[in-house]
Amino acid sequence: MSGARMRVISLETHDIRFPTSAELDGSDAMNPDPDYSAAYVVLRTDEDEKGHGFAFTIGRGNDVQTAAIRALEGHIVDRDCSDLGAVYQDLIGDSQLRWLGPEKGVMHMAISAVMNALWDLRARREGKPLWLLLAEMSPEEIVSLVDFRYITDALTPAEALEILRAAEPGRAGRIAALREHGYPAYTTSPGWLGYDDDKLRRLCKEALDEGFSQIKLKVGADLDDDIRRMRIAREVCGDGYPIAIDANQRWDVSDAIRWVQALAEFGPWWVEEPTSPDDVLGHAAIARAVAPVPVATGEHVQNRIVFKQLLQSEAISYLQLDAARVGGVNENIAILLLAAKFGVPVCPHAGGVGLCELVQHLAMFDFVSVSGSKEGRVIEYIDHLHEHFVDPVVIRDGGYVAPEAAGFSSAMRPASLAAFTYPWGQYWTSAVAQSSPAAEARRTSAVTHPPVLKGRSA
Ligand SMILES: [Mg+2]
Repeated sequence: MSGARMRVISLETHDIRFPTSAELDGSDAMNPDPDYSAAYVVLRTDEDEKGHGFAFTIGRGNDVQTAAIRALEGHIVDRDCSDLGAVYQDLIGDSQLRWLGPEKGVMHMAISAVMNALWDLRARREGKPLWLLLAEMSPEEIVSLVDFRYITDALTPAEALEILRAAEPGRAGRIAALREHGYPAYTTSPGWLGYDDDKLRRLCKEALDEGFSQIKLKVGADLDDDIRRMRIAREVCGDGYPIAIDANQRWDVSDAIRWVQALAEFGPWWVEEPTSPDDVLGHAAIARAVAPVPVATGEHVQNRIVFKQLLQSEAISYLQLDAARVGGVNENIAILLLAAKFGVPVCPHAGGVGLCELVQHLAMFDFVSVSGSKEGRVIEYIDHLHEHFVDPVVIRDGGYVAPEAAGFSSAMRPASLAAFTYPWGQYWTSAVAQSSPAAEARRTSAVTHPPVLKGRSA
């Protein structure tokens, strides 16, 4: 897609870290002490416009991620970046940086941050929220944004065009419906592994009171604990209420099957990330063995090619794309089209820092222009760190309100940048940060390991 000239003149990065490990917010079976972080990028044009993007990390390594974003400067600065299909091709095709992937890991997340910042810039220039900018594009423009290399055995450009054209007639009605009713959400807030039973019970009740149509519990550290916690959640939420479980890659294939079968009596809505995100055949084996419990994954799936294989092998019943891991908006459009081709609902991953803010736009675009449906679809919601964003998500009656502010909702507040820049921001140099358990852990442990897997042979 190209438009009026969009000349970027600077790329600025910030290493932003929040001390979430102090409260065990975000704790799960593989990530016991995350400090939710953003490798944040601001692009400026010669017309003094700005675009904002970021990669989400969980603390250490955010400096590496920030350096990776800076490595892309030569592709962006002093260039006309108006053709977002061409810029994306240029970034993923860098003949030397590509060796670090290809199309995976730290460099790919850096490309995501830069592409998302360019999309923020474009949407701000057009005066529209990103979801609406995408929703009003022609099917041909949308197809021109996608790189079909390595996926044409599953989805050709002609098929993509067909999917988008089939959704065209109802678009205006669905835009109006989104503005009126929003998009359904589920909450992960009750289910962090570090929370005690009373807090779990209280937060389950709050989720129901707030109108969420689903909750999710972290599992996978200790089977007896998981059985007890699922029982509590089921008691509070009642029979039939959707309660998903998320193992965050904790298990080998056989452990996953045994564990999910042991929790099956509580009717998990889905089991998320049961094993390594790279193990396509493992996911397929788990899906066959634990059926009818559906398998979901995606937040660590590194690109459209792995998603293609998960779909081809019938390994997943829900696709959980992430707004800041694959190559930004362009690659996520490819993934939405693949999901539509295979008839698998997309339930995006969110939480972290700003992932809810970003991914709402992709889910809403999917509803308007690709799948045309909210059936069986929910966006994850976690209720922290939104206060650091200029246009934070708005949740009403358990759903996302369609954002109306121009852009990708990706801009962080200047005061938050100043306070949480690592290691010299006001927060990180303050006495409270220096004396926190998190700071102590950082001083005494260069590398932390996930806790020992208990109950493995139970
Ligand atoms: Mg997850």
